[in-house]
Amino acid sequence: MTLKNRTAVVTGSTSGIGLAVARAYAGQGANVVLNGFGKPEDIESARSGIESEFGVKAIHSPADMTKPEEIAGFVALAEETFGSVDILVNNAGMQFVSPIEDFPPEKWELILALNLSSAFYTMRAAIPGMKQRGWGRIINTASAHSLVASPFKSAYVAAKHGLVGLSKAAALEVATHGITVNCISPGYVWTPLVESQIPDTMKARGMTEEQVISEVLLKAQPTKEFVTVDQVAALAVFLASDAASQITGANMAMDGGWTAQ
Ligand code: NAD
Repeated sequence: MTLKNRTAVVTGSTSGIGLAVARAYAGQGANVVLNGFGKPEDIESARSGIESEFGVKAIHSPADMTKPEEIAGFVALAEETFGSVDILVNNAGMQFVSPIEDFPPEKWELILALNLSSAFYTMRAAIPGMKQRGWGRIINTASAHSLVASPFKSAYVAAKHGLVGLSKAAALEVATHGITVNCISPGYVWTPLVESQIPDTMKARGMTEEQVISEVLLKAQPTKEFVTVDQVAALAVFLASDAASQITGANMAMDGGWTAQ
């Protein structure tokens, strides 16, 4: 229980990677703040399941991470409820697949707001408390698409490259305050986000579902296997540990060798 008495705030944690990360922190004794959308009964079952399984406190906030004023309130709620935000994971994200010339401008704005700007606003709100306490861990879920591009994912690739730059700048600013800022860059992880982009990729590339999985998704990954949410969560736990106190400003790939090519 290396994270007892810590509070972990994980954006976009009602599903996929974020939920696995929140559960992993709870497994280490941290209280957790869940965030994201979904059916109320599913969210309540994830929240109460964390409390009963791990003996920690868990709350959920439906704050929309594309809205700066809701983000400030979300961080304030976490601080009021638990007294601190010690670990901040900027994980909420979405994808949209389209050629640039057909890319709806409102989708571009939305993806930039969610996948990039939200991390600026959460860090802006959480860093003062971390500095006061002299300890903090900020972990941003980037992507293999923070290192390399794929066609038809312009907004996502731009936002994830930007998130790495933002994280490096933040890491340098807080380096002497006991706070680290890092990115985790997964390759393809089997989550609702990946599953839901298959139909659009089928349309954009004129492929069947099987072709998208083998010729687009796993084609990029030399191991020919999806990354699991629990593997990403294990790295997030390590980055929050004292053993990782000298890892900062890093972008850690977990992509089955994708970006080694
Ligand atoms: P997911 O779709 O399973 O989960 C996304 C989460 O974000 C959900 O909890 C959803 O409710 C929440 N969310 C969406 N819009 C939101 C908003 N406006 N405000 C607050 N929360 C919002 O996706 P995932 O695959 O678990 O992805 C999580 C992160 O990992 C994303 O940043 C994604 O870009 C990144 N990532 C995923 C993969 C992958 O293959 N799945 C690979 C690399 C990076």
